[in-house]
Amino acid sequence: MSDTAPTRTAACACGQLRAHTYGEPRSVYACACLDCQRATGSAFSYRARYELAQLRIEGGARAWRRGSDAGRWVEQHFCPHCGTLVYMTAESLPDGAVVSAGCFADPEFAAPGRLYRASRKHGWFDPGAAIETVG
Ligand SMILES: [Zn+2]
Ligand SMILES: [Zn+2]
Repeated sequence: MSDTAPTRTAACACGQLRAHTYGEPRSVYACACLDCQRATGSAFSYRARYELAQLRIEGGARAWRRGSDAGRWVEQHFCPHCGTLVYMTAESLPDGAVVSAGCFADPEFAAPGRLYRASRKHGWFDPGAAIETVG
């Protein structure tokens, strides 16, 4: 797929780490769990899931691994220069990865279908009726 133009490119703030994506994401979600709040430095993560075959990573990444609530590892991949968290891989997702939706810098990017860990969301944040809230 590398000889065809990507559908979109997610990039870190300094531009040295890029995730080129091919085709549409399999799903788009947000998560308000406290781990996502810390990892992103924001009130929730907003991510798009792709199959590995839909992704091409350009530039060097550093990764940080932790255990998830379910006891399985998740790995946050970030730019070693600017620190932007560009994508995440997980033991529970062996054939895929999730890309930080904000890194596409595209206000038209698909809205999340679900908000996970809605019980942890900040009080001001109203996801609206179109987004299914879970947990
Ligand atoms: Zn960077
Ligand atoms: Zn989360």
